[in-house]
Amino acid sequence: QLAQEMLALREQFPLLNRTVHGKPLVYFDNGATVQKPEAVIESMNQYYRELNSNIHRGVHYLSGEATDAYEQAREKVRQFINARSSKEVIFVRGTTEAINLVANTFGRQLSEGDEVIVSMMEHHANIVPWQLLRDQLGIVLKVIPVDEDGELDMAALNAMISDKTRLISVTHISNALGTINPVKQITQLAHLHEIPVLLDGAQAVPHTKVDVQDLDCDFYAFSGHKMYGPTGVGILYGKETMLEKLPPWQGGGDMIDHVSFEETTFADLPHKFEAGTPAIAEGIGLGVACDWLTNAGLDKIAAWEDILLKYATEQMNEIPGMRIIGNAEQKAGVISFVMDGVHAQDLGVLIDQLGVAIRTGHHCAMPVLHHFGVNATARASFGLYNTKEEIDVFIAAMNRARDMLL
Ligand code: PMP
Repeated sequence: QLAQEMLALREQFPLLNRTVHGKPLVYFDNGATVQKPEAVIESMNQYYRELNSNIHRGVHYLSGEATDAYEQAREKVRQFINARSSKEVIFVRGTTEAINLVANTFGRQLSEGDEVIVSMMEHHANIVPWQLLRDQLGIVLKVIPVDEDGELDMAALNAMISDKTRLISVTHISNALGTINPVKQITQLAHLHEIPVLLDGAQAVPHTKVDVQDLDCDFYAFSGHKMYGPTGVGILYGKETMLEKLPPWQGGGDMIDHVSFEETTFADLPHKFEAGTPAIAEGIGLGVACDWLTNAGLDKIAAWEDILLKYATEQMNEIPGMRIIGNAEQKAGVISFVMDGVHAQDLGVLIDQLGVAIRTGHHCAMPVLHHFGVNATARASFGLYNTKEEIDVFIAAMNRARDMLL
């Protein structure tokens, strides 16, 4: 039943009908980016065919329509994450820019010796911005360790919090291990100490229903392209009270109220953080992706991806020399692995010849891979449209590659 429903959704993804190297495409690189349903593609086409105009400043009809469409998209995102107000929904380029925005506003107000806690399993996007601040301001970066299953050491986090801790910034779901972190528990713990929390939701929004009020996080960052929406657009959610206190980051058009050479005053939220012409078509496409995911049903998607994860994991464990990295109890549809005697890159290239697209390398999370004693892994990551039959093709391809390489 669930498989049938997901197959019906799959029909809406035109790209999945193509072949590569003369073979049907098996797309297992969803952790990097997912394919887009017709509705999202069409909304952007329609924008350029019928609405294209700059927003927020035009007096003319078309500009008004484009502005309405863009602001409706913001409202769709607000509903999707259940933010209190659309003032809390800031359009950015993606997760990376969202975290950099926080680092360059909230982070800029920190002083030497102030501490920011991240985790061992962070994507580079949630490491490097804080390191830049460390080098510029002398803040201290503390790292929550990860155990052998790829789960956060919560006792260590507890012990690490001090009266110098100013922010805890962790990923909701790890792109390298698939671990789903206990983010609500982290937020509760942090708030006991009045420490704000930033969650990197890049991998979470396409897999599970995110409710920022329920999580009670202070910031939540995610990218459109990982949730069946376009590239070039993403969201920083921030609690209104928090965002109100922060200075602007980038300066330019659209983020101002009044400008003179003596003094400039800034626009209200959310525009204070949105300088310049945004990715309008992509913003509209992101709004459509939110509605599309809600209609598809995130509970069903999570359940299906879990079935795929278990099915693939069982079969992979049958392959001799297979080591899956990251065996957290709560895990999304991501399998990172190494095979004895086989370089991940060689495996990736060989199974690509058989039509199977996976990721190989460090997945922008070098520290956690080094922690597990590897420089690179192969990674299969599933989306709602993947099937058990595709997993069979993937397993057969890996066995063939293994025979060739060993
Ligand atoms: N965080 C995580 C957990 C991710 O998986 C990614 C993308 N791989 C990012 C951050 C960065 O997202 P983007 O490149 O879309 O800014």
